[in-house]
Amino acid sequence: MTGVVLRVSALAKEYAASGAGLGPGVIRAVDGVSFEVRDREALAVVGGAGSGKTALARCIAAVRPATSGHVEIAGTVVVGRSSRSLRAARRRVQLVTEEWGSSLGPRRTAGALVAETVRAAGSRAGPSRDRAHELLDLVGAEPATYDRRPAELSDAERFMVCLARALAVGPALLVCDDPLRRLDASARAELLEVLSELRRRTSLPIVYLARDLSGALRLCDRVATMHRGEIVEIAEPGVLATGALHPYTRALHVAGGAAGAPLVLVGDPPDPRVRPDGCTLHALCPVARFRCTRDHPALAELARGHRVACHFPGASPDGPDDGRTPGVTVSRGA
Ligand code: SF4
Repeated sequence: MTGVVLRVSALAKEYAASGAGLGPGVIRAVDGVSFEVRDREALAVVGGAGSGKTALARCIAAVRPATSGHVEIAGTVVVGRSSRSLRAARRRVQLVTEEWGSSLGPRRTAGALVAETVRAAGSRAGPSRDRAHELLDLVGAEPATYDRRPAELSDAERFMVCLARALAVGPALLVCDDPLRRLDASARAELLEVLSELRRRTSLPIVYLARDLSGALRLCDRVATMHRGEIVEIAEPGVLATGALHPYTRALHVAGGAAGAPLVLVGDPPDPRVRPDGCTLHALCPVARFRCTRDHPALAELARGHRVACHFPGASPDGPDDGRTPGVTVSRGA
């Protein structure tokens, strides 16, 4: 059995709503999240705007301290706001965000950029130029890439340079916070293939956070869906692709254009400063019943490796009306 590289335990992150332009109040962006990532594993965390993905990514990458709970990366434990533990964790994890392209600069060649990072990291794996060649090769770049400047490279090649620089630090974990979000569908597919190739060529564990469920299903070994700071479903991609049980996951299938997906959420997202009683999705959920307004659902294992936080997993909007929430309008996807 492979070892655990990342352990996230009861992690919570709160921030002032005024920072998000919402006036007084507190937003609980991450709310009691726990999971593990093993050596060689890629775990996706998928959710829409306001799901808490970026806050989670920043806590894991030690860019921001968690409010409570803890993160352990390859034996390094990040506790609260301790700057020493945050610094120690930053050496073990590399974060790739949607701003990855802006970090390259126009003047230096791809090889020089990677070699610079190798030198800064104090790599003992040989001269920086040789190591830069190795790293570019490792991420699937053609040898000619080394002597080209970013403007002379395709999106995929520039993304490879960014990944080679991340690997130059020798991380134990790569965290990708929706790096493909701003791209069109064809560029996204191309760069997703770069990440898949990285997975084939290295054993580096990855946490991949994204809005795009279909890409996550293609790339990762396990996929979790996240709503209002909580993991609401987690399973292997083959299970989620055809047998998602949580209404939020099923709605993400619809948002991604999956054919025949059975659910859409209804209404406008509620104020993120107000934590509703019961299930946090109940105001939008087309299969909500009275119990959903009262009892918070725990993440429970319904089949081996498939955990769901829902009182009525897999329920249909047309199912028996055993106390459906008054005022919730039933709506169905195509
Ligand atoms: S617990 Fe109820 S409101 Fe929440 S997702 Fe399940 S059915 Fe919907």
